[in-house]
Amino acid sequence: MKILLLGKNGQVGWELQRSLAPLGELVALDRHSVDLCGDLGNLPGLAATVQQLRPDVIVNAAAHTAVDKAESEPALARALNAQAPGVLAQEAAKLGALLVHYSTDYVFDGMGHRPWTEADTPAPLNVYGKTKLEGEQRIQAACPRHLILRTSWVYAARGNNFAKTMLRLAQERERLTVIDDQFGAPTGADLLADVSAHAIRQLLQSPANAGLYHLAAGGETSWHGYAKYVLAQAEYAQSALKIIAKELAPVPGSAFPTAARRPHNSRLDTGKLQTVFDLRLPDWQRGVDRMLAEIL
Ligand code: NDP
Repeated sequence: MKILLLGKNGQVGWELQRSLAPLGELVALDRHSVDLCGDLGNLPGLAATVQQLRPDVIVNAAAHTAVDKAESEPALARALNAQAPGVLAQEAAKLGALLVHYSTDYVFDGMGHRPWTEADTPAPLNVYGKTKLEGEQRIQAACPRHLILRTSWVYAARGNNFAKTMLRLAQERERLTVIDDQFGAPTGADLLADVSAHAIRQLLQSPANAGLYHLAAGGETSWHGYAKYVLAQAEYAQSALKIIAKELAPVPGSAFPTAARRPHNSRLDTGKLQTVFDLRLPDWQRGVDRMLAEIL
């Protein structure tokens, strides 16, 4: 089996390089790849890559993920998040290949408290969410053999993440203010990659299970709850970090104005994925514990 991975150096792409490797021959590209085009901004180049490689599975982990920047460059965000997935879908359909793609809870308006299901109606609040929704729709229209995984609050040990920022600030300031009116589940890129590999294997056996699924770690918290957990674990681990923050003040999201509106409710109902693929998603604290063990 041949697998084409796009966006190999992002948070999820990096972990996919590990989890997809045992499934078959893996060709992993990023936007700077030279022999084959892995640039989502080059639509003819992308199509040519698929036509040349003729993969059995295409996994697209690349995207325009700068949520605030997308507000001022909507055409670029649309090209990368909607048009490129559309081209991948058309090329995958011609080959009969499976297309795996990642989307976001930002396709919803973030109202209410109930975890969103796949049957809920999207209503994105910002350019990023709108372009990601259009990407989903283009895939659904062009390629029946797809796996779209909507996720939320992704972190990885590699690169920057919210936990690392909190740990750094907690060493610099006595008082931190953290948003407490946005709710979701921090989800590890490693979990996303492992579940993707598992689902790909199952889909190759049971193609009828193709479709749209919600995938996030179990449980829920706010950014404030997440920060509190990270700092408590760091103190418990008695790491070399010298935390001086004595107060972690909860504030509303409105205290941090941003170019893009953010949803309050990022909770995702993952029941469909767990049932169809016979999986159990661990609580978010388990993945964060592992990430902290790697970085502390
Ligand atoms: P990252 O920002 O870590 O990775 C995105 C990757 O896309 C980067 O490697 C980036 O490369 C690459 N990229 C950007 N522009 C192009 C381009 N023109 N051509 C090719 N590659 C490009 O994102 P994540 O790994 O966190 O996200 C993976 C998926 O999950 C995305 O679809 C995202 O929308 C979705 N998602 C992410 C969430 C999150 O909290 N991060 C939440 C919900 C969904 P470079 O480094 O060179 O810019």
